[in-house]
Amino acid sequence: MTEQCQPPILSHKARKRFGQNFLRDKNIISRIIHALQVQAEDAVVEIGPGQGALTGALQARAGHLDLVELDRDLIPRLQMQFGLGNAVQIHQGDALTFDFSRLARPGQPLRIVGNLPYNISVPLLFHLIECTAPVKDMHFMLQKEVVDRMTAGVGERHYGRLGIMIQYHCHVIPLFGVPPSAFSPVPRVDSAFVRLVPHQRPPVPCKDLAWLERVVQAAFSARRKTLRNGLKSLLDRDELGQLDIDPGLRPEQVSMAAFVRLADYLASRS
Ligand code: SAM
Repeated sequence: MTEQCQPPILSHKARKRFGQNFLRDKNIISRIIHALQVQAEDAVVEIGPGQGALTGALQARAGHLDLVELDRDLIPRLQMQFGLGNAVQIHQGDALTFDFSRLARPGQPLRIVGNLPYNISVPLLFHLIECTAPVKDMHFMLQKEVVDRMTAGVGERHYGRLGIMIQYHCHVIPLFGVPPSAFSPVPRVDSAFVRLVPHQRPPVPCKDLAWLERVVQAAFSARRKTLRNGLKSLLDRDELGQLDIDPGLRPEQVSMAAFVRLADYLASRS
């Protein structure tokens, strides 16, 4: 049986539009904190602290903690609980447009953490991999299906744009699954906790990232079509053949290395 946290000090009605499923299971919270191994020299950023299920433990361990929370109604509570010391800064704002590079601290790569709002998790992951500040690692609670997409390799059912672009930037390590009962309100989906560690160098470096994003997006927006048909606005079957890519393949059969070859070719041709 799982142990549940005490009810919150200030009452707050969870808002669906902000993806508010608050963590309630103390065992899961401990596993998260244990997985993070926060050290006194760490600069931690928590996205969506909500009612502070993780925040107290992060504050107790980190040298510096930045909190980014969209819901204005939760800010006074966060200020009351965590805002007094100068080692914690609270930013009311939208993580989707937040400039995380402004939190960069000399000699302290950021450690980004969050039980993310599931309704915006995919665009938020894309926003975060574009962050130009040095990032040591990122740990997120996500919908399990999103973690499956992030970790899928070529030929697997969940392989697609999200996995290719995330794996281009980061090593993705799924840590453990989390049942719906760990949250309140209880979500309809299973969750998983995942670690992302940015690569020093991408596994297959690409000359022009914008072209990689464009060609991957074009291929997977026509997932059922062969490359010859799905990419016909960008290149023809002879060009695919010259790049040693079978024009009859479907996008889920195309490796990251082949997408990088396509992107490099399109960049050099334009
Ligand atoms: N960390 C808390 C926990 O584990 O109980 C709350 C997690 S809840 C799933 C997601 C949190 O993200 C909520 O506090 C919500 O208000 C906040 N949030 C939603 N959209 C956001 C956004 N665009 N930017 C920043 N925070 C957001």
